[in-house]
Parts: sequence; structure tokens; C-alpha cells
Amino acid sequence: MNSLIYEKLRKEFGPIHWVQIPNHSKIIAPGDWLLARIKPIPLREHLRTFVNICIEEKTFCVDKGKLTLDVDDPINEKITNKAVEKVLNKLEDPIYEIMIYLNTTEACSYQPLVFSINPLINYLTYPTHPHINCYFNDIKVMQGKYFFPQSICYNDANNSLGDTEYEIIKESLWNTSLWHFRHRIWEETQNSTNKGIWIGPNKEYFDNGYNYLTELNPYGLCRCGRNKKYYECCMEKDLKELDKISKNILNPNYRKAELRTSLYPYRKYHSQMDMKSRKFLQYAHELFSKYYD
Ligand SMILES: [Zn+2]
Repeated sequence: MNSLIYEKLRKEFGPIHWVQIPNHSKIIAPGDWLLARIKPIPLREHLRTFVNICIEEKTFCVDKGKLTLDVDDPINEKITNKAVEKVLNKLEDPIYEIMIYLNTTEACSYQPLVFSINPLINYLTYPTHPHINCYFNDIKVMQGKYFFPQSICYNDANNSLGDTEYEIIKESLWNTSLWHFRHRIWEETQNSTNKGIWIGPNKEYFDNGYNYLTELNPYGLCRCGRNKKYYECCMEKDLKELDKISKNILNPNYRKAELRTSLYPYRKYHSQMDMKSRKFLQYAHELFSKYYD
């Protein structure tokens, strides 16, 4: 990253640090990372307007990591969803520690990858979350292959965030703040009604059981919210769906055998992912304690 861009972003966005990870790091990808510590939730009097901004996908501002309104922005306080209205009164404004990887490749559409580190947001902590990206396992960057944990899905449009390096990073930071506001609403509505509401376009990442099988830890909570372990709950159903999907492609006898034994490879896969993820998190926590008192 260009240091002039960093200075500009730091002045505007505030609580960020630029960290350059050396090539010999075996735990996390080398290159440019940003650490951010944000309190994204807007002022109480702007909460309702921001819910509408999210739903209508209107433009917004971020100041020092916090969602803010411009003086010219129209105020729209009318909220039609009762469950959302109810949680707004008790919406806390926690601090989020975030890590952003800037040297992305084609595998992630050259968009910065954003990880919510503390409090940790992934499928282990939120198995029913509607807006998390999958693991990026062994992506090739800078002559090596590296593991990336589950990242947040902060850009629904999936088109370019901007044309310049500055715009791309700024947009990803701003959208990260907005994503965490949406996440807080989803989390609170999930807690109070057991049916989380994602304000704004809700494009389900998972469209078949196979995706759940690769991302959910069998020993973690199930995605259906029934408070059971995934392998004791919906995993069987997802395996059947996987079987149905791939029946036409592979030899049915082979598929049947794979189905019977499939719990084993998934367990092995997830224990490997969890180990890599734990190492990554430990490294991340060390970075945060180094850069923020
Ligand atoms: Zn289930």
C-alpha cells in the first residue's frame, strides 16, 4: 500500500493500523494488512434512519469508524418491521476488532478480505449467520499458499468497490462498519425472536447442502437453531442432498460408499480448518495487543 493513501485513510477513518507481514510468515498471508478497532453503531437518534438506509441501499457516511449522517441527508424514521423496532432501544455499541487483507487475488475478486476477529464472527460462533463468506483455504499469494479464515460478506453487489486503491480500501472500510450495524440488528432479532432479520438485500450464500458441509463444523451448533450439534442434527440431511446433487455426475455405487463414510473426511477436514483458524486468531490477537495498548 502507498503510504500517502494510508495517511489519508487514517485521518478520515481513524482507528486503523497498517501492518506488513513478512514473506516468511507461515501462519498468515504476507503483505499488507490493516487492523481496525471500530464502534460502528450510529447515534441513538440516527438508528432508525440508518435502518432505512440499509434497506433502501442509500448512500451513507462513516466518521472514525462510526456510521454518521450528513447534515443534508434526509431523515427517515419510519420503521415497518416490529421486531427491528423493538431491538433498536437496547442496541449496544460494542467495539469490533477487524483485520483486512489488501493484497487479494482473483480468487476473491481482488476485493479486500475482512475478518471480524474480536468478538469473533464466524460459523462456529454464529452457525446460522446469513452473511459470512466461506473459508479461503490455500489461496496463492506472493509465491505461497495461505489459509484465510471465514470472512464477512460486506459487499453484496459483487462489483468493483472503486477504481483507485484509495477508493477500494475506503469503500471496504465503510461497508465493514455498515455490515457490523446490520450484524448487530440480526444478532439482536435472532436472540429475541429466534428469527434473525438481515436488513437490506438478503442473498443467501448457501444454496445447497454441500456448502454447509464444507463450512459448518460437525461439532459446532447446527444451522437450524435447534441448539443441537450439527452432526447430530441437519448434517445427515445435507449429506443426502449432496448425494442427490452429485448422483448424475458420479458413479452411484461410489457415491453410496462415500455417503456412508463421509462423516470421517468432514471431521478431518474441519479439525484441520479449526487448527489453522486458531493459529490465525492467536496471531491476530497478538497484533492487536501490540498496536492498541
Ligand atoms: Zn439442525
